[in-house]
Amino acid sequence: MNYLVFKSLHIISVVTWFAGLFYMPRLFVYFAEAETRIPTERKILQDQYKIMQRRLWYGITWPSAIAVLIFGSTLASQFWPITQYPWLVLKLIFVAGLYAYHIFLHSIFNQQQDNNTSFSPMALRIINEISTIFLVAIVFLVVLKNVLSMVYGIVGLFVFVAILLTAIKAYKKIRENEVLNSDQITLDKLKLINNSSDDWKQKLNEEEYQILRMCGTERPFSGEYYLFFEVGLYACAGCGHELFSSETKYNSGSGWPAFYDVVGTENVRLIEDQSIGMKRIEVRCAHCDSHLGHVFEDGPHPTGLRYCINSIALKHHKP
Ligand code: FE
Repeated sequence: MNYLVFKSLHIISVVTWFAGLFYMPRLFVYFAEAETRIPTERKILQDQYKIMQRRLWYGITWPSAIAVLIFGSTLASQFWPITQYPWLVLKLIFVAGLYAYHIFLHSIFNQQQDNNTSFSPMALRIINEISTIFLVAIVFLVVLKNVLSMVYGIVGLFVFVAILLTAIKAYKKIRENEVLNSDQITLDKLKLINNSSDDWKQKLNEEEYQILRMCGTERPFSGEYYLFFEVGLYACAGCGHELFSSETKYNSGSGWPAFYDVVGTENVRLIEDQSIGMKRIEVRCAHCDSHLGHVFEDGPHPTGLRYCINSIALKHHKP
């Protein structure tokens, strides 16, 4: 067959392979984030994500990876001896790296198919970015056939990432300023919000920091309070403000402490959260803006609400 026909088939299979490599870790993230849901919701979501993972992995990603190998080898045989083409040698090293990444994703795929999530959503988000680096490196090499151009390409990518991170930081600052400008602000709150991440790191231990300040979630059935029903009040672990009472605490079976009401609605701040591809309501401490958990509309009488809160975000004390 014609060289250009193979080249076209090769490019098509590369595009579909990358489509799989880009989307698969997103499904891993959704699966890991579904861990925070109550058991019935979690099961429905995770079963659905597992079906989507299998279709994407075995229907598109694996066949494309094999097609790339077949068409790519046919094309590479035209470049002989290969040592005359340094760009191609380097490209093949990157391609080998990409296959290693593919195998690594396969191991995460196997884990999640067995209902095991050893990677946090944050770690999976970072893993998600690896294919971008491979894509930039390989495309620059193939198009420019020049090792130096690829180096420029990668430097450009890092500059782009740095700009993106700065923009995210700037956006966060603007959002914080909006909070500071709101009417209900107190001097105390102002001081707390202005605390830098370094201050919080000193004040909190690693686990508390991850949950309260980085919006993390403790593993279900692991916290101190999910089966704890002593009388008293639950204060924010970040600032000590009282948030929940034992009178509204109940066992939701989700593996996290659940309350059907707050001590006062002014004590928490509710924010729309779309982080796992669906709308949820995040609960934060209104005083120090620490992340506490989420609120769902499947709670018991009389409010019908379920505040699903991390144990680590709370400190119980007797009244
Ligand atoms: Fe607080």
